[in-house]
Amino acid sequence: MKSKVYFFTARTHTHQESMSKVKGPLALKQLGIEEKLKANDKIVIKTHFGALENTRYIRPSYIRFLCDYIKHLGATPIVAESCGWGAPEEFTGAHTEYSGRATEKEYLEVALMHGYTEETMGAPIIMLDGPKGIDVERQKIQGKKFNEVAVAGRLREFDKLVLASHFKGHISAGFGGAIKNLGIGCVSKGGKVEAHTGKTFKFNTEAPISDYEVCLKICPTHALSEDKNGKIIRDEKKCRLCYMCQSVCKNNAIEIGESTTEEFIIQMIDNAIGVVDFFGRENIFYLNYAIDITWQCDCTGGSDINLFPDIGILSSLDPVALDQACIDLAHLSKINPYSVLGDIKNLPKGNNTDWFSYIPRYNRETKKINMNLEGIASKQWELQLEAAEEIGLGYRDYELIEVKIEQKDE
Ligand code: SF4
Repeated sequence: MKSKVYFFTARTHTHQESMSKVKGPLALKQLGIEEKLKANDKIVIKTHFGALENTRYIRPSYIRFLCDYIKHLGATPIVAESCGWGAPEEFTGAHTEYSGRATEKEYLEVALMHGYTEETMGAPIIMLDGPKGIDVERQKIQGKKFNEVAVAGRLREFDKLVLASHFKGHISAGFGGAIKNLGIGCVSKGGKVEAHTGKTFKFNTEAPISDYEVCLKICPTHALSEDKNGKIIRDEKKCRLCYMCQSVCKNNAIEIGESTTEEFIIQMIDNAIGVVDFFGRENIFYLNYAIDITWQCDCTGGSDINLFPDIGILSSLDPVALDQACIDLAHLSKINPYSVLGDIKNLPKGNNTDWFSYIPRYNRETKKINMNLEGIASKQWELQLEAAEEIGLGYRDYELIEVKIEQKDE
């Protein structure tokens, strides 16, 4: 089956073709949202505000114009993100690549610095999994690795979901787009941990209570306590599986699992189908902003030079078709020779090459990024698309429909 994917080029000559004010809302309109909305519906726009030092995240005005369009249709927009993996810096005492998104309090400060506020959006901004990432809905699925997914709980409050994703590279998933925004972006804080590591969660009950000192302070549900023998105990009924205690324990007193890159991708896809099953396939509209396409995800502080020229905005009701179309257009592009792809010695020459096979990737054994300067191909991007199609998220086959904007005399 072929899904429809609408494409608006990034080439723009006048304000009548504005990427933010005109093409973004029109990309949403193509999906039939005007017929599907009811007056006073609550529409959540899920995007990513970027890690603190990231500079290639989606510019706020793209999302503001989506909010204005939704208001114009008589519905109510809310802009959303979800809490990131880990504990806030006030507990860890360390600033890292991924810092600044552990709680609503932390993340809203980053959002403010990046231009995302209630004033600039003309709409409230929320964390979909609540202020501390523990607002969760457990969705049963028949996944390859999981039979239950920790969906971000506040999704229950909304009638429709607009997934406004930045299409770019990713060191483990091969690329990040609509599928990843579902499987990582729309699950709870703990759901993100589980995608990356699986569901292992073990406390060393022989460890001294001093190893759990910060865990006892950070636990948002008071699920941890010290028993009469001075050992840690966890109340499983109170625990919301946010894994913040693991982020701050000493001497590895709490063990979580390790997943291979392939397992991470499969677990992310399991999460994604859980989100779609929970919210309803017919209620989700997907927009990919294929601009500022770096090899890094927006959740990192790195923002290297773009791999390709900007492509444009694409939209679909099928996240797999949408991501596949973005990948295909990127692979048809000329690479930017000043980007990391230009550093690779043995990069295949010419067009129509699978450029995403050559981007830097995370080495789980050394826990370092391999810049892949030797040019060895790796197809994480394709595994993501294959697994997503196999589980029923959508179809890789698609019809690309380019939408041109008519210029009017002024
Ligand atoms: S015990 Fe449970 S709720 Fe408390 S911090 Fe650990 S994972 Fe979160």
